[in-house]
Amino acid sequence: MINLRPTIDRINALLTEDTEASVTYAALEARLALEKVCYNRLRQCHDYISHDQLKRWQPHAVVNTLIAEVDAHAIHTRTLLISRNPAVPGVEPDDDDFVEIGTEVGFNPKRIGELWNALSGLALHVKLPTNKDDRISEYGDADRTKAKVLDVVAELERIAKGTMTFSGIGAEVSFECACGEKNKKRASLLKGGQSISCINAECNQSYTVEIGEDGSHSFGLQAAEIPCAACDTIIFVPRREVTKMKHDEVASIRCSNCDHTNRIAWLLMRVDRATTTESDNV
Ligand SMILES: [Zn+2]
Ligand SMILES: [Zn+2]
Repeated sequence: MINLRPTIDRINALLTEDTEASVTYAALEARLALEKVCYNRLRQCHDYISHDQLKRWQPHAVVNTLIAEVDAHAIHTRTLLISRNPAVPGVEPDDDDFVEIGTEVGFNPKRIGELWNALSGLALHVKLPTNKDDRISEYGDADRTKAKVLDVVAELERIAKGTMTFSGIGAEVSFECACGEKNKKRASLLKGGQSISCINAECNQSYTVEIGEDGSHSFGLQAAEIPCAACDTIIFVPRREVTKMKHDEVASIRCSNCDHTNRIAWLLMRVDRATTTESDNV
């Protein structure tokens, strides 16, 4: 859990100062607080999210990833209760048999993203001069910035009421990547055809999720299949590795069968069908 109280107090103190500079600093603090909230929620579940997916650093993208990849319940406020007595199959315990462990306050990632973007637009950029005589302002619009910071404070106050974070609920599936890394995912959040990246930041492998008729999960390696120029053995090159290549780049791949070094490059090609015109037939 992060303690948002000192941040909220700091923002309120800056707003009370009520100068252009202090309101701008309040906006910066508010923006950082939104980021902290998102990253903290994500950190609880970091095992399930790949580094590649984490790199989209804007808070609303981080939280959207959190919901899509890890925990569909992030938007809802949840309270965790445990029973005072051991569970007995077939017996429904009384409501007063439960003790509250804590509450996690949910939040709407779209709302957080909007607030984060609005603060940036209002406070953290000066107004561009429209002509050469226009004065370059030192700060953004203080009144509009202040109104937006107050919106963020209200959201932070709401989230600060939480007393715990969950790491997610539901069955897990796991698979071992070609690099040896164990990847874990929440089964209920995987969709057939979805693409997922290995959690190992050094690894370029990615997989397509396949769900069988019996509900079982499998993970198909995404690879470009390149026949070796010397011995025709198929070489599997991670798809993410080839898609990162620049258009004019030539990469070398070694054949594990005959040790021949093959060179690969992207090729621009026409994709529409060839058409014949009357003049071709003349
Ligand atoms: Zn891997
Ligand atoms: Zn070969």
